[in-house]
Amino acid sequence: MRVDQIFAEARANGTQPVSFEMFPPKGELTLERAREVASGFASLAPDFISVTYSAGGSGNSAATAQIASMISSEFNISSVAHLTCISLTRETLAEKILEFMDAGIENVLALRGDLPAGMSEAEAGDIAFPYAKDLVPALVDAGFCVGGAAYPEGHLTCDDLPTSVKHLRQKQDAGASFLVTQLFFDNEYFYRFRELADAAGITIPITVGIMPFTSKQQVTRMVFTCAASLPAPVIKILARFEDDPESLRAAGIEYACRQLEDLAAHGVDGLHVYTMNRADVAAAAMSALRG
Ligand code: FAD
Repeated sequence: MRVDQIFAEARANGTQPVSFEMFPPKGELTLERAREVASGFASLAPDFISVTYSAGGSGNSAATAQIASMISSEFNISSVAHLTCISLTRETLAEKILEFMDAGIENVLALRGDLPAGMSEAEAGDIAFPYAKDLVPALVDAGFCVGGAAYPEGHLTCDDLPTSVKHLRQKQDAGASFLVTQLFFDNEYFYRFRELADAAGITIPITVGIMPFTSKQQVTRMVFTCAASLPAPVIKILARFEDDPESLRAAGIEYACRQLEDLAAHGVDGLHVYTMNRADVAAAAMSALRG
């Protein structure tokens, strides 16, 4: 099913779609291990599952379409295949579109991908598709339902939030029909961003992405790769359970569940969980949201 239809039906029924993100397992037997992960997620009946795309040709990018296709055909759950434009040319995009069509993909999350080490934002302007928005029209023309990424605290390489929101509006104008946010640990940032997005005329559904954190290293990485602010309650959890990884993991999942509940109560368009392929994380989030 198309994700724009899922959001439209949820809006009409006064509900909020709950979705999961998974990544293609690395190494051997990617598909078999992805099937196990997807099977666990499918038993929780999410509204859709998105599958990340590895930019930079690590070898796993080919698995994205296969896994998204398997999720829809074997588990009857709608899926979204991510696609990054950073390494695409016009020719390879045409090939990707055919590959996605052959795999029966209906929904694509159009992304730029992180720049290769050493490439500046200015140099990125010279590649075939410099920004995610440039990828959207070709995908829409090919018949896909297309989404884009949104940044409640602004993108790491963008100096200010109003500019980030202006760039977001360009994704809607290019034909995107839903947005998924970067993770954040403090809901207040999302509520402020939502006001700016409303004022900028962004009307397509924005589903909020939340990552239940399970270790201090993971939080540290996210702070620097996603430019996510650390609120005092998260710092206190990290300090309190510094020498107790199991309790830290439980507290991190619990924190995310409270975040999701608060967002749901504030009437967000949808809730998307960065599961890191972990069944217990997905189950805890679903239990907090659906009981
Ligand atoms: P863009 O929207 O193109 O933005 C990139 C930068 O360019 C930003 O600073 C933006 O403000 C700026 N910009 C945009 N438009 C313009 C313009 N017209 N003029 C000047 N500057 C502009 N990465 C992966 O490799 N694989 C994945 O599967 C993946 N999934 C993701 C899923 C979600 C929900 C999110 C939030 C991120 C994901 N990422 C993934 C990471 C993403 O690729 C990076 O955050 C990347 O740096 C930006 O991608 P984007 O699509 O937001 O890019």
